[in-house]
Amino acid sequence: MSVLVVGSVALDSIETPFGKVERVVGGSATYFTSAASLYAKVNLVGVVGEDFPRDSIAFLQERGADLRGLQMVPGRTFHWQGRYDFDLNTAHTLDTQLNVFATFHPELPQEYRKPRIVFLANIDPDLQMEVLDQVEGAQLSVLDTMNFWITSKKDSLLKVISRVNVVAMNEAEARQLVGSYSLLRAAREILSLGPDVLIVKKGEYGAVMFTESGYFVAPAYPLETVKDPTGAGDSFAGGFIGYLAEQGVGEHLNMRRAMIHGSVVASFAVEDFSIERLRRLTRADIQARYREFQNITYFEALGSD
Ligand code: AMP
Repeated sequence: MSVLVVGSVALDSIETPFGKVERVVGGSATYFTSAASLYAKVNLVGVVGEDFPRDSIAFLQERGADLRGLQMVPGRTFHWQGRYDFDLNTAHTLDTQLNVFATFHPELPQEYRKPRIVFLANIDPDLQMEVLDQVEGAQLSVLDTMNFWITSKKDSLLKVISRVNVVAMNEAEARQLVGSYSLLRAAREILSLGPDVLIVKKGEYGAVMFTESGYFVAPAYPLETVKDPTGAGDSFAGGFIGYLAEQGVGEHLNMRRAMIHGSVVASFAVEDFSIERLRRLTRADIQARYREFQNITYFEALGSD
């Protein structure tokens, strides 16, 4: 089952306590595609400028991604500059340059218009809506966003949220969106906007899935070395959605397994800068770490006493 994604394809300049990189490949759609393409065919919608490295395009194509929806236009690629301090859960945005995204409007190839799964990765909510308006019959639509858009385009964002099944955001953003300190209350309010499922990402503390009837917690994998948390959220989405694309959306248990796949893939993504670790990642690596997740979360039922 193929997956349609729209999101940023970027060059990032990032500083963490463990190193600094300038204008490396990033972007929500890039991380997502690098991860999800290990499970399913990904059709990518986005835009890059002339400065985007050709070898990264070649890598995504080798992974089987369809890039007919990725426009290449004169100008500079979207650029994000961020810094993390020792609290790696909080990204400090130093600069956002939309560049070629400022005038971009998605024009979906005919073959992209009836996807089973759509992922609206973090990008201008007006662009997310333009993509949603061009597709029909999707079984699952998932939206991710960030504080930048909650602050600058909240009305547009609320409109797209009301049209998707699943919303994913980090903890601070969920609270910010509805102005509630209690995460449970924030989750209830976000679900009342329309989606059936809310996934709250808690960085090194894992991720939580909220539905009308329940709550499921996936831990994060305990890592000794984290180099760069950028892209963890999009890689999580790649594992989560990739697994559902492969196994089917309908099964309740698949959603839980998908949460673990998301956590597993995100745990690899942060081990190196940019998409480097995802480039080398294999399904065998994922399988092995999935089993370790089972071990660290297993506990027995109460005895009869
Ligand atoms: P995350 O998974 O949240 O760490 O996403 C990281 C990626 O988001 C980076 O590679 C950035 O290029 C990208 N990004 C940062 N700010 C924005 C924005 N305002 N819109 C879209 N993408 C962004």
